[in-house]
Amino acid sequence: MAVEVFVERCRSYKEGELDKAIFPILQRLTPKLGTRPKILLKPNILRPAKPNEAITTHPEFVNSVAKFYRRAYPRAQIFIGESSGCLGLPNTKRALAGYSKAIRNHRLKVVPFESQKIAKVKNPHGKIWKEVPLPKVLLDADIVVNLPKLKTHTLTVFTGAVKNFYGCVPGAIKGKGHADAISPAKFSSLVLDVFQAVKCQVHLMDAVVGMEGNGPSNGLPKQTGYILGSKNGVALDAAALRLAAIPETNVPTQVEAASRKLLPGYKIVGELKPVPYKFPSLKKWALLGFLPETMLKFLGTKLSPFPVNHPFFVHSKCTRCYACKKICPVGAIYLKGKFPEVNRKLCINCLCCAEQCPYGAIETKGSLLLRLLKMR
Ligand code: SF4
Ligand code: SF4
Repeated sequence: MAVEVFVERCRSYKEGELDKAIFPILQRLTPKLGTRPKILLKPNILRPAKPNEAITTHPEFVNSVAKFYRRAYPRAQIFIGESSGCLGLPNTKRALAGYSKAIRNHRLKVVPFESQKIAKVKNPHGKIWKEVPLPKVLLDADIVVNLPKLKTHTLTVFTGAVKNFYGCVPGAIKGKGHADAISPAKFSSLVLDVFQAVKCQVHLMDAVVGMEGNGPSNGLPKQTGYILGSKNGVALDAAALRLAAIPETNVPTQVEAASRKLLPGYKIVGELKPVPYKFPSLKKWALLGFLPETMLKFLGTKLSPFPVNHPFFVHSKCTRCYACKKICPVGAIYLKGKFPEVNRKLCINCLCCAEQCPYGAIETKGSLLLRLLKMR
């Protein structure tokens, strides 16, 4: 039977409008729970950011979700959890502080995943990781509520419900994942390993204002006006891609999900009119993401200075906070004078530095080789 994806119009983050759109979807998706359930909310909090930058799931959106569960289950333990990027506990604490309204009003317990006990979950379906390190609080929850944001992504073209689970992997282990799986195709396979290891019952996407272009942090906010929900994250992403007019075949997580037979038939309940999103700048050569690892490494390092798609620093925006240097999973960033610089021979083009720079001082561009390909 086809999985349902529920769609509601919602044009702003006004509390009343959000409640009106979110409550009916959650009513349909939430399974019957006991009187004191453990409910874990997992927004997309890529890094500390202002709500109007459209980098994170909007705090008002999370507030509305928390309100629904607090009203339905007054005695529930409701957690809000995340591991924000690879910079560790202080960074995640700062990021979660942006949700103070929901935390205060609905008595949420804040659980930065870096501060939690970690369990290694056996994952027989895994292709890259046969064991996935995950916080126990996530595994012990009666219900996990996934709250992704609709955004484009310079590495994986799109980020939604499936990719949001990579944020469950605590801190620096995420960086190891990038180093283990360099190409977008292999990295997407790793993301699916994590997705399959988490038991999540409810997926609800903030597509009121999404992000287009060079997401997930350097793109532009995109007024979209929708909220989508489903019990199946892959089906939800398929519907979100239809909304953003991005072909699923360009999105390696969807391609991998299809190869694992996780992409079910789905039907949209409600009206959905596409709002086309601008692709990240890798659009025309997104297919290169499907090249084998060895070839990408060759293009990325041996042909230096012709790497595949690399970060570069905009000195006029750089505040020299050096977060990028700390975050790089392979130690490819060094200081040249006072400014950071990339050692192209070490760089694996994971673009974590560009995602996490708080000042938008790291942009990405295709190499000469790729720009030539783009002109074809
Ligand atoms: S590029 Fe960004 S993260 Fe790196 S030092 Fe400059 S401001 Fe900080
Ligand atoms: S320099 Fe940036 S893109 Fe290159 S490996 Fe380090 S974090 Fe990834």
